[in-house]
Amino acid sequence: MPGFKKIGLLWPADGRNDREFWNWLPASVSVLIVRYDVDGRLGVEQIESDGDINRIAAAARLLRHVNPDLIALGDCAAGFIGGKDFERAQMDAASSSCNGIPVISMSSSIVEALNFAGARRVAILSPYSSGVTERFESYLRDSGFSLSSGKCISAGSESLIERISSERWIEEADSAEAAEADALVVPGGGVSLSTLIARLEKRIGKPVVCGPGALMWKALRTLGREPSSDRLGFLFGAGSGSALKSMDADARQILSTASKVFALSQEPPQFASGKGAWLFDERGKRYLDFACGSGVASLGYGHPAVVSGVRRQLDSGLTHLGPHFVNSVQVEYYHLLREILPPQLCRMHPATNGTEATESALKAAMHFTGRKNFISFIGGYHGRTLGSLAVSSARGSNRILGKLSPEVRFLELGCDEMEIRNFMDKRPRPAGAVVEAVQATNGVIFPPRGWLRRLAELAEHYGVPLIIDEVFTGFGRTGTFFAIEQEQLVPDLLVLGKCLGGGFPAGLIAGRDEIMSAWPIGSQSSTFQFNPISAAAAKASLEAMIAEDSPAAARSIEKILREQLVELREFPFVADIRGRGAMFGIEIATREGKPDRKRCKSIRSAALDRGLITWECGSDGHVIGLIPPFVVDEGQIALCAGILRECFSLNSH
Ligand code: PMP
Repeated sequence: MPGFKKIGLLWPADGRNDREFWNWLPASVSVLIVRYDVDGRLGVEQIESDGDINRIAAAARLLRHVNPDLIALGDCAAGFIGGKDFERAQMDAASSSCNGIPVISMSSSIVEALNFAGARRVAILSPYSSGVTERFESYLRDSGFSLSSGKCISAGSESLIERISSERWIEEADSAEAAEADALVVPGGGVSLSTLIARLEKRIGKPVVCGPGALMWKALRTLGREPSSDRLGFLFGAGSGSALKSMDADARQILSTASKVFALSQEPPQFASGKGAWLFDERGKRYLDFACGSGVASLGYGHPAVVSGVRRQLDSGLTHLGPHFVNSVQVEYYHLLREILPPQLCRMHPATNGTEATESALKAAMHFTGRKNFISFIGGYHGRTLGSLAVSSARGSNRILGKLSPEVRFLELGCDEMEIRNFMDKRPRPAGAVVEAVQATNGVIFPPRGWLRRLAELAEHYGVPLIIDEVFTGFGRTGTFFAIEQEQLVPDLLVLGKCLGGGFPAGLIAGRDEIMSAWPIGSQSSTFQFNPISAAAAKASLEAMIAEDSPAAARSIEKILREQLVELREFPFVADIRGRGAMFGIEIATREGKPDRKRCKSIRSAALDRGLITWECGSDGHVIGLIPPFVVDEGQIALCAGILRECFSLNSH
């Protein structure tokens, strides 16, 4: 089965509670249990000797040929009684006895789960005696928690722990005095709570973390898998999960039907944080982001230079300025940008995003030429406000709006020179020609080499301003700072946006002096255009891109991605895999060669479930866009390719 995962569980020989673990496991994850010989009595000394490192190493060795993805140490008490160093030694011994694979332990998983639940002060409900429980208390204190109360059931043996009834657990939880605590923790490996956690949590109104639950939670998290049941408490979704689900339902009622939020999944992940190429959802599940928030997070999430640039600006108190003033960070940015632009594009005009920048370019060209109509290209996408929409042939459901203004003549991308001449020579002449350097939204489509340059020559010849839209491709995406460098051309106006703002809203046009000096004061402005926070983020981000040589990073991503994706060509529904720099598209087609939107969506949705975010593109939503951040590493690219391979196989019938 593709993506089948194996957890090796090392577990004392009393064998209590094997069933408990299965309750959490989703399909395609298995637990292989090795029981090792122990004394079985629950005194401090006996437990200490049960956790003997040689015994654990020998048990782990038995799993060598099974080759699990992970080993979980199930003897909770042996871990906390020995203390953290001893537990670490147990884990190292298990790992080195079994091919060096990752090892997790129950006590440290409890600590991680409590941290995940946001607990600082905890109440303990212990099945053990007071002597053993005291060791657990000091383990928790060593891990930074304060204790509000402790209750010992003192069951005496694993078989007695197993026999504690549901009613008794509920009674004991009631008397554990958890009112002052953030969470209730039940240590112990033999605790059968899997079907009771949700009830207990409801009763005491806080997360309940038990040993086996925490261990499997940590194991599934490490393997990037979701548990099979949502009855299993805060960690597995019955607590936080139901809140998340109702948030989805809420959002569905509040958001307009034009929102894209539910386009791929009815229960999209709700992201809480990001680092580098990873995003983390509210439950702590991680996702590899190969969409970059529609091509924005090119330096990944939380880049330290960008964070400190923004923080400095925030600390200054100047978070907004409006269009009537300019501040130093904005001007410094314009100068920095000029250093990487052709010298002819010497004047800038700020905007809030890509569509506003496109509108500004159209307007600048209209003021300069005194003309009204435009040439644009089939498949082009320039934004969703009305002027940008008018020059976009990719209109999706806006097609029904009919004729828009300005009037536009759409030509084929890569069309014959004569066709361009025909329309540029027409009276009245067009106010401009608008073209994407690479058609991103249309499915990562490249114009033929040399064609853009020829278009620029013709535009110059006929006096038609050429507007090149590099909102998507700008700032290194295709392996050079701007895609126009590869064609050795200089447009009259260059439209920029997306990752320009380092994750903050920003857009801008850079243009030739004669055009950018031809429109009167105030003919284009908006309140938030390139506000100081966006400018600070843009400046920090561009400095980092120059220092880290982002275009070179994109070129090496291209090389690795190309190699990793080759295998996918074997699937009969893969019509094409194309890309340049850190920008790839995998086109999915039916047997008849028609766009296969359904299969594409199903692959992308399966990938999302497995922790990979892809970008939707293509004229019919039939292209899987891969737009990784420049900070992605070789291992992450291999992980992406592996998940795609698995999802392609799952969807190959
Ligand atoms: N131009 C291009 C080439 C784009 O890809 C986009 C956004 N996908 C835009 C313009 C519009 O940018 P925004 O969404 O910021 O308005």
